[in-house]
Amino acid sequence: MVYTGTRGDAAASSAQAIAAGIVADGGLFVPREFPQLTAARLAELAQLDYRSRAAAVLSLYLTDYTAEEIRHCVDGAYCGTFEHDAPAPLADIGENRKMLELWHGPTCAFKDLALQILPYLLTTALNKVDKERTAVILVATSGDTGKAALAGFADVAKTRIIVFYPRDGVSDMQKLQMTTQKGDNVAVCAIEGNFDDAQSGVKAIFADAGMREFLADRRMVFSSANSINFGRLAPQIVYYVSACCDLLRSGELTPGGGFNVVVPTGNFGNILAAVYAKRMGVPIRKFICASNANNVLTDFIRTGVYDRNRPFHTTESPSMDILISSNLERYLYHLSGGDAEFTAAKMAELRQSGRYELPPVMRDAMREEFYGGCADDAAGRAAIAEIFRERHYLCDTHTAVALAVCGQYRKETGDDTTCVIASTASPYKFAPAVLRALTDRELPADDFAKLELLSRLSGTAVPASLAALRGEPVRHRACVPRAEMAQFIRSALQK
Ligand SMILES: *Cc1c(COP(=O)(O)O)cnc(C)c1O
Repeated sequence: MVYTGTRGDAAASSAQAIAAGIVADGGLFVPREFPQLTAARLAELAQLDYRSRAAAVLSLYLTDYTAEEIRHCVDGAYCGTFEHDAPAPLADIGENRKMLELWHGPTCAFKDLALQILPYLLTTALNKVDKERTAVILVATSGDTGKAALAGFADVAKTRIIVFYPRDGVSDMQKLQMTTQKGDNVAVCAIEGNFDDAQSGVKAIFADAGMREFLADRRMVFSSANSINFGRLAPQIVYYVSACCDLLRSGELTPGGGFNVVVPTGNFGNILAAVYAKRMGVPIRKFICASNANNVLTDFIRTGVYDRNRPFHTTESPSMDILISSNLERYLYHLSGGDAEFTAAKMAELRQSGRYELPPVMRDAMREEFYGGCADDAAGRAAIAEIFRERHYLCDTHTAVALAVCGQYRKETGDDTTCVIASTASPYKFAPAVLRALTDRELPADDFAKLELLSRLSGTAVPASLAALRGEPVRHRACVPRAEMAQFIRSALQK
């Protein structure tokens, strides 16, 4: 499998693409073609466990990794690290709707599915392409990626990890998860700004010649754990294949049938993985893209115009508070039939004016397979309350956006095809907002008392990794303006 760049030719092996994270011209790595899974192969995979499904899918993309290397990566990532042997189980919530629960990992969000395996994929890649160097993983996070990346990379040899999060843009529990992180190779820093500031700051540092030189002098090289790295996308494809396998196995999906997916979307990484699964042969009919009040994608899907010039809202689903969805670039590239010049031009327009427009043919092709909808905090709370009342099922604020938009889609179209809803976080990660949706009672001030209240109300257990944060000392207190991110990195790496 050869990889290329979305903005221009950049032939690379999978190991090179994963080690580099991003193409030197600022584009993203994409596979030249989509490997295929036939119906017969899917039926075979349906008989296997998650790890075997993962090995099968990853080996189609990571063709320069040996079968033993892939097995080592998969077992290290998914053996004993998730609450269940099945890291991505489907839960039935009635009316032909399934929750694809992606939050049973160590940090309670879907990012674990990719970030538990990325350190293995990356260190294996570095061994192949650049044995001498230490990888410096730069992360901009809207809350969940940061902790999941820290948990994956802490004390991994020949890596350093530096995480930037928006000071006022993450939940208290997310902040505590990050600021208490242990490990000799980790640094965590708040920035005065929102996620888009953190993300564009990190991208600028990647492209900065002075920083690259600073690293080269120390036998270091930048890499990325954000979803711009193909090593994050590939493991996310696995759970859509696996969901298809589970539906086949239970008989709820029959050969020739199909299902819809609903994904609460921010950076467009999770839903893009579903697109890849479909291109490989998984019978997904519609991609239902759910946004919160930051609904730039809803408008884009409806009109073909991407316009980030709008107010930024801080919501109860902070991991989706994003106006520049970086993985959309990969979708544009594929939608245009692999036209790098077109993609580069659109990304330049986005940089210059914050806006671009698709030609009508492409807009219509996108609308064939996508539906875009949005739900604000009030609609999200209503969805949490309703599904709890009707099914005694507890869902978090991000998943609630997806659930609400799933309802909108069905009402608008009458299409009641089986929906697989990506459930992206544990409700305990966003306990105050979930509690406010469920009860009018005054909430206790203490964060951990809130977790216990949610546990009592719902009859579910507080995840052990969150309960264990109680009393942990805060180890990371730095907070800098965007302009000082590079300086923070230099001093962190000099330690
Ligand atoms: C990251 C995240 C999202 C958004 O996923 P993208 O891949 O950025 O679209 C949604 N929900 C939760 C809980 C997340 O952590």
